[in-house]
Amino acid sequence: MSTIDSAEPARRIDSAEPARRIDSVAIIGAGTMGAGIAAASAAAGCRVLVLDTDPEAAQRALDGVDADAQGLVEIGTVDDRLDDIAGYDWVCEAVIEDLATKRELFERLEAARSDGSVISSNTSGIPLRQISDGMSERFRHDVAITHFFNPVRVMKLFELVPGEDTEPEVIDAFARFGAERLGKGVVHAKDTVNFIGNRIGCFFMLSGLHMAKPFLADGTSQETIDAVLGAPVGLPPTGLYGLIDLIGLDVMELVGANLAQNLPAGDRGLEFTAFPAAEQGMADRGQLGRKTGGGFSRRTKLDDGSRKAETFDLVTGEWRPASAPDLEGVPADLGEVMFADSPQGELARHIFGGTLAYAADLVPEIADDIANVDNAIRWGFNWVHGPFEMLDHLGPARVIDFLRGIDAPLPAMLATLEASGQPTFYTQSADGTRTQLMPDGTVAPVES
Ligand code: NAD
Repeated sequence: MSTIDSAEPARRIDSAEPARRIDSVAIIGAGTMGAGIAAASAAAGCRVLVLDTDPEAAQRALDGVDADAQGLVEIGTVDDRLDDIAGYDWVCEAVIEDLATKRELFERLEAARSDGSVISSNTSGIPLRQISDGMSERFRHDVAITHFFNPVRVMKLFELVPGEDTEPEVIDAFARFGAERLGKGVVHAKDTVNFIGNRIGCFFMLSGLHMAKPFLADGTSQETIDAVLGAPVGLPPTGLYGLIDLIGLDVMELVGANLAQNLPAGDRGLEFTAFPAAEQGMADRGQLGRKTGGGFSRRTKLDDGSRKAETFDLVTGEWRPASAPDLEGVPADLGEVMFADSPQGELARHIFGGTLAYAADLVPEIADDIANVDNAIRWGFNWVHGPFEMLDHLGPARVIDFLRGIDAPLPAMLATLEASGQPTFYTQSADGTRTQLMPDGTVAPVES
């Protein structure tokens, strides 16, 4: 790859001939994510180099590549083969989530990579400015966050985050690669803690653990909480506790610590960065979720070979047989539980409604428009509708009336919608184009 000649006329971002092109990837860190990115890139026909400090991790990454693509992949250790990254268009860092480790590594990668290559971090939530602070100009021009979701081959979401100095053509190269080579859904996020998907998705989980407490104390079961926060509101069947079991309480604890450090003052999420006492006890005991054989639930094998589902009761602190959820009176129509006069309705309003309100307050802080937020949540967390699509489905006027009725402040984008006089965030025009309400009250097309 040649360097970009500054004497050339500025190129259009969407020109047929991109200024930077990615055909090969050097991945540093061969754990869950590095191995996934390697397998996806090789399956897309790219040359791949995978380096790790641990040669066995690099070998496992190679073993995870489709047999017919293994010839495209080379592996090694960072100490033995770091200089080889000069032969690759994209240097992708996917090592442990630790700022000091990443910064130290980036210093070495920056010295070894070639001019014209692009470089990125797969961090889940460390702001890019903390990674690039004090780094060279070349690094700051060529770096971005390329945030895949786990498992890489399955999850559609690919968040791109530029730094203040990142060249637009670098983001363009990543966006093309993600969409055209890997078939991902590209979301453009801003350099704020946890970006888009995890900022909202983790608020749902962490606030949910706290907001569920009064319902648990009143006798609502965890099974009912998970069931209400599933299909009735358009979320996957894992609900709240099931989702945290999948992700792991250890990961959520780290996420909470990162949020506590990096959320802006006044952010609602600051109330929920630490676990409630019972959940903290679980994390401290190593009762982390599926990866440790049980978190909020577990399946134990009986002598006759069958399996028994059990729930860790957060009120008693004991395991008990799993019970059927109580969905009596929960309306079948998507989202209608939000308006139901029942404990389940109140639960849905508090936890799911609280997350919708949080999301509606975060534009333009975390994204330039609402479509990027909706795409991130649908592609990263498998909601039926993203938050703004869901507000449209529920009827924004109905939601605004409800919030006024309980003297709650209107989230920024709901206030913008009300002032605009538009009935919904999205509008489908007669010619089939879809438009969205922008944070400044104007209307703009939704890019497909
Ligand atoms: P992991 O623990 O599975 O793997 C990390 C790998 O990095 C290990 O193989 C380790 O040996 C290697 N490593 C550590 N220090 C190194 C160094 N200095 N040089 C080279 N290799 C080094 O971690 P993971 O889950 O794959 O996460 C990687 C990154 O992706 C993290 O920043 C994480 O936050 C992010 N991420 C993780 C997920 C997820 O669900 N696992 C999702 C999105 C983003």
